[in-house]
This record gives sequence, C-alpha cells and structure tokens, in this order.
Amino acid sequence: MVKGIAVLGSTGSIGRQALEVARAFGGRLRVCGLAATGRNLELLAAQVQEFRPQVVAVADPAAAADLRDRVPCGVEVVGGDEGIAAVCSLPQVGMVLNAVSGVAGLAASRTAIGAGKDLALANKESLVLAGALLLAEVRRQGVALLPVDSEHAALHQCLAGRTGPIERLVLTASGGPFRTLDAAALAGVTPEMALAHPTWKMGPKITVDSATLMNKALEIIEARWLFGVPWEQIEVVIHPESIVHSLVAFGDGTVLAQLAPPDMRLPIQYALSWPERWPSPFARLSWEALCALHFEPPDEQRFPCLRLGRWAGERGGTYPAVLTAADEAAVELFLRRRIGFLDIARLVEEALTRHKPKWEPGWEDIEQAVVWARRWVWERSS
Ligand code: NDP
Ligand code: MG
Repeated sequence: MVKGIAVLGSTGSIGRQALEVARAFGGRLRVCGLAATGRNLELLAAQVQEFRPQVVAVADPAAAADLRDRVPCGVEVVGGDEGIAAVCSLPQVGMVLNAVSGVAGLAASRTAIGAGKDLALANKESLVLAGALLLAEVRRQGVALLPVDSEHAALHQCLAGRTGPIERLVLTASGGPFRTLDAAALAGVTPEMALAHPTWKMGPKITVDSATLMNKALEIIEARWLFGVPWEQIEVVIHPESIVHSLVAFGDGTVLAQLAPPDMRLPIQYALSWPERWPSPFARLSWEALCALHFEPPDEQRFPCLRLGRWAGERGGTYPAVLTAADEAAVELFLRRRIGFLDIARLVEEALTRHKPKWEPGWEDIEQAVVWARRWVWERSS
C-alpha cells in the first residue's frame, strides 16, 4: 500500500530530509502536498518537479504567483493562508509531516488534525504553545500523533508495548557548541559560533535554541504532553555524542534506551512508516561509536533556559506560549546582532515575570500571549 503524505516546511532542514526519506521509499510513500513560505523558490520548484504533488502551499502570495508559472500541469499552487488547508484536505493524504519552524507551526498542526490526518510532528512549538487544545483535537478526530523530534521518537519506541509504571523519562541533550564555556565566554559568543552545532545540522532557530538549551526546555514540555508523565519525572542529561536519544526508567528497575546515529532521517522514517518498521538505507550505528559514550548533568546556572522552561511548563496557562514566543523573538534579535547571547535568557525571563497569565487558555488567549511576548521582547531591544 502506498501512503500519501504532505510535507509542510519542505524547504527546511527537516523538510528536505523528509523528502530524502520519501525518495528512498518511492514505492511506499507518495508526496501529495508540499508547503513553504516561498523564500526559497528555486528549491521548492525543484521539489515540485521531482515529486509532482497535487497541491503546493506557498505562504507568500507573490511567490505563489511566481511558482504558478513554473509548475507542470496538474499541480495546483495555493497562495496565502488557505494553502496549508488545501494541502491537508487532500483525500489522498493520510499523514501530514509538520516541519514548519517556530510559532507559525501551530496553525499548521491545528489544520492537519482538523482535517482528520495523522500528524508526524517535528514542530515542537505546537505542543508547547497549545498542548492541551491540540491533544483534545487529536482525541476528537481520532488521529495518530507521531513525534519526529529524535528524543521523543526514542521515548515513543521505548514505551511501545509498556505494561508497568514509568519512573522517569530521561531526555538526552548534546549540550550544544558551548557546553564547556564559562559564563564570561558565553557573553561574547557570536551568531556564527552559535550556528555551528557539533552533532546536528538544523535550521537556525533550533540551532540557537540548542546552544542556549532552550530546545531542551521546549522538549521537556513536549514530552509532558506526549507521554503524560508528571514534571518531576522528566529529567535531562547531557550526552555530547548524540547516540543515545533518550531513556525510560521503569518501576521494575529496567532502563530502556534508544540508540542510533545522529541522523534525523531515522526518526522521520520511523514516524512516516509507523506502525510498520521499514529496513532503512540510512546510516548504521558502528560498535566503535559505543565505546565512548559520556553523560553529565546539565548546568542550569550557565544555561538558565532549562530552568525557565520547567518553570513555565509547571505553571502552565499561557506561560509556555510566552516562553516560546519570547524566545523566538529574542533568537531573531540575536541572529541580527541586536542583542547578545546571554540576553536571550534574560529577555525570556523578564517576559515571563511580567506576563499576566490566563489559566486554561483558549486559542485566542494563546494567540494574544504570543503577540504580547513578541512585542514585549522587540520593545526591550529597540
Ligand atoms: P528550518 O528553518 O530549516 O525550516 C523551516 C521550514 O518551515 C522551511 O521550509 C520554511 O519555508 C517553512 N516555513 C516557515 N514558516 C512557514 C509558514 N508560515 N508557512 C509555511 N511554511 C513555513 O527549520 P527546521 O527544519 O530545522 O525545523 C523545523 C521544525 O522541526 C522546528 O519546529 C524544529 O524545532 C523542529 N525540529 C527540527 C530538527 C532538525 O534537526 N532540524 C530536529 C527536531 C525538531 P521557507 O524555506 O520557504 O522559508
Ligand atoms: Mg530534539
């Protein structure tokens, strides 16, 4: 059986790797829809030529008009806000991979679930912003939610077939490029230094989040929603080699871990092939790589984002939305050299302190919290 998929954010790091997976499994996966902003039109046009999807969503209407002149006949290009809805509502699409970056990914997740499609979720921000609302939609629609984030894909695999109580979920983190820097050195790091990740090649926002450890903070909240484990049972351990992708400690004293090379095509394939497991053409783990695996506790003094994430997650309400949106704005300012590296955590903390939360927020409350946090950060830096 061929499974119809849509790849949202197809021109990004995860999107491109998802298309590599689709290429490798041409007999089993059919790419029916693609979506991107249109900033990288050459690449999107090449993807359309190769995969011949039925519908392509392009967020920027001008770029959509450009692309329309270049696509083969039979491919529909839908510009603006309706694009992703058009892709998700294709009857041939069984699973939507959401690899849109940042806060913008929430609307895409909501649209995919609302259209009744299984969701392979790379966009962790969706669950951090609106976990309760999205999971309620998932239950209402009866769709499957598969994590693509490597740690959560690891936990999903370790938890498959579980029968007893869970004691702890342990998320691994590479520690990023500044794992060994002291606080004084951290103050002087540049965007170029932050973008040079030691083990993963990713889009710019998540790469900076990995350097501040905000990525792991978001992942704690993501894990909380995906697996329903209390906050105090979710731990983080630094593991620089990125071979052990996460671990589950069970009540009987057994710890299960998932190991694989640091290659995102593997968790993408896991989600797209679920509930099957297909033989993979991608990297294999060498036994030599297992001879030197290191683990150490995270340092929340030097990397306060981890503490902020836990704080926002445990309080709930609109705090996680403020965490996510303030961080996204601060990362953008850092990449534009308007603020320093340590200002990212400082601005997020100030935004959280100033925020007046809404408890049990609806969609509009979350949207407002996002707008407020973004504006708050931008105003502090101008
Ligand atoms: P990138 O920045 O590389 O790619 C983002 C993609 O999203 C691009 O295709 C971009 O299109 C598209 N996009 C952005 N905004 C919109 C929008 N409003 N409508 C449609 N498309 C949009 O990011 P990554 O691939 O690194 O990350 C994507 C998501 O996956 C993030 O949430 C990240 O946290 C998560 N993730 C990523 C991992 C990785 O290894 N990269 C690992 C685990 C999770 P365009 O090119 O046209 O701008
Ligand atoms: Mg991850």
